[in-house]
Amino acid sequence: MSAPDPPPAMRPSLQTLISRAMRLRCPRCGQGLLFVGWFRMAERCSHCHLKYERAPGYFLGSTYISYAMTVVILTVAYVALHFGAGLSNRQLTGPLVAFCVMFPLLLFRHSRALWMALDFHLDKSVFLDED
Ligand SMILES: [Zn+2]
Repeated sequence: MSAPDPPPAMRPSLQTLISRAMRLRCPRCGQGLLFVGWFRMAERCSHCHLKYERAPGYFLGSTYISYAMTVVILTVAYVALHFGAGLSNRQLTGPLVAFCVMFPLLLFRHSRALWMALDFHLDKSVFLDED
């Protein structure tokens, strides 16, 4: 049996959740910071005390966001640079490999924040969690 849905006033819109994710803020209250360092997440929201990692392995889903964005940008860049600008595969290999390594690192925090926003949008019971 699932938990009851929270009242509508407690449920932010998807736009609000994405806005909070882009600002790296708590999806529930929009106040607390998600990260205390570049790669280190806070355990809980400093404002509403929401526990960010809901279960072990919770953030594995964020790698799908990171992977999808990397693949889309890599594909568009390859097609534009190879077929549009006429650069050879040899010329493109180094820069595109560097992109594939660096971009997911740069996107790390936002992919986790977007994953939480998506999770909170799809599972509204998390707004009722007290622990
Ligand atoms: Zn919060």
